[in-house]
Amino acid sequence: MNEQTNHYEIAIVGSGPAGFTAAIYAVRGGASTVLFGGVAPGGQLLQTMEIENYPGFVDPVVGADLMMRMLKQAARLGTRVLQESVSEADFSASPFKLKAGGRDYTADVVILATGAQARWLGMPSEEKFKGKGVSGCATCDGFFFRGREVCVVGGGDSAAEDALFLTKFATKVYLVHRRDKLRASFRLQEKLKANPKIELIYDHVPEEFIGEGKLTAVNLKNVKTGAVRRLEVPGAFIAIGHTPATELVKGKLALDESGYVLANDKTETSVPGVFAAGDVMDTRYKQAVVAAGAGCKAALEALEFLE
Ligand code: NAP
Repeated sequence: MNEQTNHYEIAIVGSGPAGFTAAIYAVRGGASTVLFGGVAPGGQLLQTMEIENYPGFVDPVVGADLMMRMLKQAARLGTRVLQESVSEADFSASPFKLKAGGRDYTADVVILATGAQARWLGMPSEEKFKGKGVSGCATCDGFFFRGREVCVVGGGDSAAEDALFLTKFATKVYLVHRRDKLRASFRLQEKLKANPKIELIYDHVPEEFIGEGKLTAVNLKNVKTGAVRRLEVPGAFIAIGHTPATELVKGKLALDESGYVLANDKTETSVPGVFAAGDVMDTRYKQAVVAAGAGCKAALEALEFLE
């Protein structure tokens, strides 16, 4: 690294499994490497309580612990890990330019590993009660609902995990899904069905979030009959999937119609020297271990590109 210009051979944007794995391989490959991790490095796994499908851990590992281990490993090997978010990126000429924390950086190669963000339903009443009972993060806000009833909206792994996690605090958790079949994995479905605190409500979607100042109830609409029922809950957790975090690179890298970065099997994007790894380009698997593998590929390709 050149102290004056803040130039690095490899700059990694994002601090999930893809970003940290890329960093580990980049520094071990001899490249000066900076990783922009955002204010809370760790990515989506920070919100996952128990991970039992990441190889190497006999017992479930807490998401935040796994990410802290990755961060320490990348830093010990020589990555400069910055708790800053990249606000601007310019890939029009080499070296590429990045702005983070009000400072300018340049890099010969950029690995984009910005992951994905939780999706919202997009209803005005949802917006109104965000932070006042409507939440997108069960691990962040579940604690506030000790001894109360809550609902979770969604039918995938995230919704299932959130519902299970919330039973630690809530007296009852309604899992509201828009279809009559869950998308969540078989193992999680088994856990849901075995938990007496969880009630599954199929074929329903939130119609309106209700309250005065704070959320007190959610009106649910039966998508088959149109009938409306009310759940008296002070907490509603939205877990309906994720959208790729590609705001930074819109108009600069080719994206697909859903906003994912288009990257080939070698993690190459539409701009030579810019690679993408993890949930920002993964439309199919979205697993920590797959993201880590993609981060490894991106770093190996980046090292070859530098040569
Ligand atoms: P997901 O698999 O895309 O599931 C989203 C769920 O929300 C689906 O059930 C979907 O319904 C529902 N949904 C979407 N839009 C909705 C809307 N507007 N109104 C009501 N419901 C809506 O997303 P995810 O659960 O966040 O999981 C994302 C990826 O991460 C998956 O690949 C998953 O396997 C992975 N993941 C893994 C773990 C783990 O292994 N421990 C944990 C969390 C996530 P439909 O089913 O009808 O489409």
